[in-house]
Amino acid sequence: MSSLQVWVDGKLVDKERASVSVYDHGLLYGDGVFEGIRLYNGRIFRPEQHLKRLFESAKAIRLSIPYTIEQLTSSIYETAKANKLTDCYVRLVVTRGVGTLGIDPKRCSSPSVFIITDQIAIYPKEMYENGVPVIVSSIMRTPPSSLSPRIKSLNYLNNILAKMEANDAGVMEAIMLNHLGNVSEGSAENIFLVKDGKVITPGLSEGALEGITRGAIVELCRKLDVPIFERVVERHDLYICDECFMTGTGAEVMPVTQIDGRVVGKGEVGPITRRLIESFHKHVREGT
Ligand code: PMP
Repeated sequence: MSSLQVWVDGKLVDKERASVSVYDHGLLYGDGVFEGIRLYNGRIFRPEQHLKRLFESAKAIRLSIPYTIEQLTSSIYETAKANKLTDCYVRLVVTRGVGTLGIDPKRCSSPSVFIITDQIAIYPKEMYENGVPVIVSSIMRTPPSSLSPRIKSLNYLNNILAKMEANDAGVMEAIMLNHLGNVSEGSAENIFLVKDGKVITPGLSEGALEGITRGAIVELCRKLDVPIFERVVERHDLYICDECFMTGTGAEVMPVTQIDGRVVGKGEVGPITRRLIESFHKHVREGT
């Protein structure tokens, strides 16, 4: 069996040989940005939006990506093709590159860029049919004044600590509150509630990443005439909502049926969530 091919700085190399230096500041300091993207039926889902977010994240940390959007898009296709993958997960990473042992980015000669395309680890079907329990994490989402959560940086420790709490509690995900105590997002997904027939999601200024899946759900709600609002979501709103779901490239649309031991609605996947899950699957597969 031939080895999985990884794109590293412009070349396809075997997975076993695909590596970055231990002096790379992406590894030493989490100094870099990334994207998690999906290919459905051989097509990148919303390529312009993912690449735009990557370039904006890079700009915010003053990292200049040595490729154009078009070059990176075609490199993703090239890598997926080399691995004969048409439905897969894509990880596109840009680091500050090789530097010295101090944090100074000036010491880094040029950014490292790599693209991994691999099978997507799909969550068990039952989770989508029955929903999952989640908790509210005690770990506060990084305040925008420290490191904006809108930057998809390689520094995920904030989220990882929250995910550990979820693991310890034996649940799937942790919801993170911001510095004001309002709901921001999950450790790796955006969050939506349904209350009295209306879909509600925290605004980006609450400390959430501008999720591409989130954007697709907002569009689908508008298309389906489901009222949708961005507004401040308090922890209390989580406890009294009728439906809840989380969205992300990997998880897609994940229904939540329990939050901190409180049953959400009737404890089953609600009608609006169900409709959005179906529409989302149709949208990604058929582009509708
Ligand atoms: N929030 C965080 C913190 C994330 O890491 C992600 C991506 N996994 C999301 C939200 C969802 O974003 P997207 O829909 O673009 O995958």
